[in-house]
Amino acid sequence: MSLAQSGIVPAWIDRDVDPCQDFFAHACGGFTKNAEIPADRGAWGAIEMVSQNTEEFLRSVLQGAASRAAGDPVLDKIGAYYAACMDEAAIEKAGTQPITPLLDAIAKVKDAATAAQAVIALQVQGVSPFFALGPQQDFADATQVIAGIDQDGLGLPDRKYYLENAGSMQTTRKTYVAHMQRMFMLLGLREPDAKPAAADAMRIETRLAGWQQDEVIRRDPHNVYHRVEREGLEKKLAPSFPWGDYLSALGIPTVTAISVNAPPYYTAVAKLLTREKSAALRHYLVWTVLRESADELGQAWVDEAFTMQRELHGMKALPPRWRRCVHRVDDDLGELLGQSYVAARFADGGKARAVELVQSVFGAMQKQLDALSWMDAATRKAAQAKLAKIAYLVGYPDTWRSYRFDVTRTDFAGNVRAATHFEIARQLAKIGKPVDRFDWQMTPPTVNAYYDSSLNEIVLPAGLLQAPFFGATFHPAVNFGSTGGGTIGHEMTHGFDDEGSQFDGDGNLIDWWSKETKQSFAKATQCVVDQYAAYEAVPNVKLDGKLTAGENIADNGGVKLAYQAYQAWKQAQPIAPPSDIEGFTDDQLYYLAYAQSWCEKVSPELLETMAHADPHSPPQWRVNGVIVNQPGFGQAWKCAVGTPMNPEKRCAIW
Ligand SMILES: [Zn+2]
Repeated sequence: MSLAQSGIVPAWIDRDVDPCQDFFAHACGGFTKNAEIPADRGAWGAIEMVSQNTEEFLRSVLQGAASRAAGDPVLDKIGAYYAACMDEAAIEKAGTQPITPLLDAIAKVKDAATAAQAVIALQVQGVSPFFALGPQQDFADATQVIAGIDQDGLGLPDRKYYLENAGSMQTTRKTYVAHMQRMFMLLGLREPDAKPAAADAMRIETRLAGWQQDEVIRRDPHNVYHRVEREGLEKKLAPSFPWGDYLSALGIPTVTAISVNAPPYYTAVAKLLTREKSAALRHYLVWTVLRESADELGQAWVDEAFTMQRELHGMKALPPRWRRCVHRVDDDLGELLGQSYVAARFADGGKARAVELVQSVFGAMQKQLDALSWMDAATRKAAQAKLAKIAYLVGYPDTWRSYRFDVTRTDFAGNVRAATHFEIARQLAKIGKPVDRFDWQMTPPTVNAYYDSSLNEIVLPAGLLQAPFFGATFHPAVNFGSTGGGTIGHEMTHGFDDEGSQFDGDGNLIDWWSKETKQSFAKATQCVVDQYAAYEAVPNVKLDGKLTAGENIADNGGVKLAYQAYQAWKQAQPIAPPSDIEGFTDDQLYYLAYAQSWCEKVSPELLETMAHADPHSPPQWRVNGVIVNQPGFGQAWKCAVGTPMNPEKRCAIW
């Protein structure tokens, strides 16, 4: 087996860099030195290559579906949706007609009561000023689905952008306000009117930001779960808001079980509606509509909306229309589009091999839980019970979702509206019904995975189970390193990170930890928090150790556990897998595969946005931050103790 056949990309390795000094530079330097980020992306690397390949495949499916004669209901529907999305002439001709009903509702705002009615009218159409309502598994009883209301209504990536001055936040605010102003002008306002309109919208967003919870606070589920019920909203927190009208308009008039993220926020918003001038409220609401709908309108709107992607992601050019339309179909008809993807890319045994990997990594976690010195017996037992209850969904749903709404080839905005209504109704229909563990939150072609703590479930879409992450003919060490550690072990460890560890195996928010063990866990978590808080994303902007703690714990645990899983798997084989692959041992391949799954060049703009608002660390630290904590790495790479990648002290949790 050659190195290339093993699944490692030889050209991405930089052999001039000592792996014991900087493993990311060793594994990915050959890539990052030569890679150029395409103008229409904010980053370029392994994930983007798989995404691009998937997008091109889906494009061919959709082009075929859009051009063929009627007959197949699945292909007809996705073909019509794609055709309407690609019909720029018709979209241009429609002008602002698609948002006219929303603007008309806002034009009626003259006091708090009419403002509330406008908020309701917008939310029914999927636009979310101030807050948004959706189904939520009750944290206290995970068998029940209740209504959850959460803060919403900001246009910048995080509340920090309104309140702080770190890095380029001030410049970003300026860019944002100028962009708001140009959007108002596109709507027909003259400059002297657009300027104060933008200022109003920004002022209201800034007030909301001041009241909203930050993402670190929100990592503790206790902080975002408050069963105030309908009565609490109506009688105590925000009596001036017409909650009955709101729930009726959403089609859930009898719902009474409601949790809100933070009770005082709703009091503040209701007060704002009564105290703000109606003109200012109209400006904020119009801005919210424009911000959320611009991509469904003509070219001038799409171009203007791109301003913020340029600013926050460092993109230089708008992605081509076809790519944006592929993603629209994936968003709105994902399980129809996904059927073609699965048939072509995930046939013959992909699922069985992935399931085998899942079971190996679970087995390693079982053993590890028994071996952990900092856990007392009772907590260990509870942890084992939780692990045993983790469900996993692999590849694609067993039953495809049906999309019961009509799609036409001539009305893109109409299709989007129909899809939005259908999805809102589908989501809200879950309230009061038994939990459906098989409802996928990602579509099959998605190059990602997730863990859901209320369902205690990991979901691995087919889109991620592809080369260079996963391959039938790859060296097993490569599949274990990349998919086993980076994905399966990562998602499984989320069940035991700072957030997931607060839920039990049934998805209930219950403290199953003994006091002492909990303290040890907190101490170990703090080690990871401090470690990553010292890393820089871009000069002068460091990572937020608390914001990224859960993802970093998952990365560290995933890679450690899948390594143990690989060793156990190897022991059980009658014939050991090959162990000299062009000078690399199989254990070295394991770490190389994990690192190469994160080979990526990221624009400085996107790196900074990630540091401020993303719970994931940038690629360089997802590799080196993990490697320095791996007990197996030093031995596999013969790194002397005390070298940068094999330090004397390391953080260890799972
Ligand atoms: Zn994660």
